[in-house]
Amino acid sequence: MKIAVAGTGYVGLVTGVCLAEVGHSVTCVDIDENKINLLKKGISPIYEPGLDEMIIRNFKEKRLDFTTDFKNAYKNSNVIFVAVSTPEREDGSANLDYVFQVSKEIAENVESDCLIVIKSTVPIGTNDRVEEFLKETLVNTVKIEVASNPEFLSQGTAIVDTMKASRIIIGVESKNAENTLRNIYDKFNIPIVCTNRRSAEMIKYASNDFLALKISFINEMANFCEIVKADIVDVTKGMSYDKRIGDKFLNAGLGYGGSCFPKDTKALHWLANDHGYEIKTIKAAIEVNENQKFKMFRKAKQRFGSLRGKKIAVLGLTFKPETDDLREAPSIPNIKRLLEEGAEIVAFDPVGINNFKKKYDIDISYVYNPEEALKCADMVFIFTEWKEIKSLKLEKYIELMKTPVIFDGRNCYNLEEVKSVKVDYYSVGREEILNIK
Ligand code: NAD
Repeated sequence: MKIAVAGTGYVGLVTGVCLAEVGHSVTCVDIDENKINLLKKGISPIYEPGLDEMIIRNFKEKRLDFTTDFKNAYKNSNVIFVAVSTPEREDGSANLDYVFQVSKEIAENVESDCLIVIKSTVPIGTNDRVEEFLKETLVNTVKIEVASNPEFLSQGTAIVDTMKASRIIIGVESKNAENTLRNIYDKFNIPIVCTNRRSAEMIKYASNDFLALKISFINEMANFCEIVKADIVDVTKGMSYDKRIGDKFLNAGLGYGGSCFPKDTKALHWLANDHGYEIKTIKAAIEVNENQKFKMFRKAKQRFGSLRGKKIAVLGLTFKPETDDLREAPSIPNIKRLLEEGAEIVAFDPVGINNFKKKYDIDISYVYNPEEALKCADMVFIFTEWKEIKSLKLEKYIELMKTPVIFDGRNCYNLEEVKSVKVDYYSVGREEILNIK
């Protein structure tokens, strides 16, 4: 079976590489020549632990190839996975332009019967629309069918999440599509949930939005903990022993970011409204998250009044650790607001600096170790809980900063330790520690 993957980003690349790893012959297609050139040299264009070695091995063993020549790639494929992005439009709805552009390219080039598998996160009903569009646009007389196969990987653990996924969702309208997908995933030995296309599309949104809701819920609990003088870390620990609740996605902080939760909550909210229904819980999750982003900024304003001329160390730029992805990272709007206030910023991130420099032409300095960022700083903001940041000893803040005032948006430090040193420490859902004087 010849497989093509359209879109070689975070999802498409990992999918392609993992399918090759279990023995399939895979061609990864992208319109971005730079990406394809890097990949042909065995260099991953994204930071994802373990990915480079798998690219090199499967490329050498000729199960994996990369190309911008979509015509050739689609012409000979039996199965084409679509993993292009589905970003948010200004009104919150999902932008399907990339999905339909790829569909057009497929329809104009396939020369044999083919199953199109939509991996991109798409609104309910999109698979139906894509199938209709493909059938109308087909150039050759071939049988074409669409299946939904949403992706659940998390950036930073994408390889393990794919090779040992909790489940594989397939949404099909025929036995033939089901058998093809079961055959492709056979070697993964992962439970398969088979349903219709609309339910598969809905499973993806319901799963992501539930996790986003869990994060917003715990952030609200954290905010209230501050008011009633409870400790959110102890509260979540106590909750997590209940297996019905669990300990995942229960860390209070500056809210969710990344390429999925923000857009997928808004897209479902928009879609529901379009159908005349309001999903109140999702609406609330979005509102809470928007507000949560600036929690540390507000604390800093409350403490200092003006931030003009203050030297601020920023630790962490990416939306979470173990990825170079900056999409919807809370660091970005916060840095913009701090600059508007007249602050001077020195930022550290273990892998996100290059992407940040490329995307944002703003006047901040970058350093390649966290100690360097702390030097002579009036305060520090922690936006990402990288291990390089969490492992930084509190004594370093005292030794290097002008005034060790820490705004920790990710609760990186144990409060008992903080209490024993001379720092001022603000975190989320916990007591403020004011020890400097
Ligand atoms: P991405 O932006 O990293 O990658 C998309 C790729 O598609 C880019 O490399 C782009 O150049 C390429 N592309 C665009 N048009 C193309 C075309 N016509 N032909 C070939 N390639 C084309 O996106 P991503 O983060 O991988 O997300 C892809 C989809 O998967 C989205 O719908 C997203 O919601 C979903 N998803 C993402 C994640 C994640 O963690 N990133 C997890 C689960 C699901």
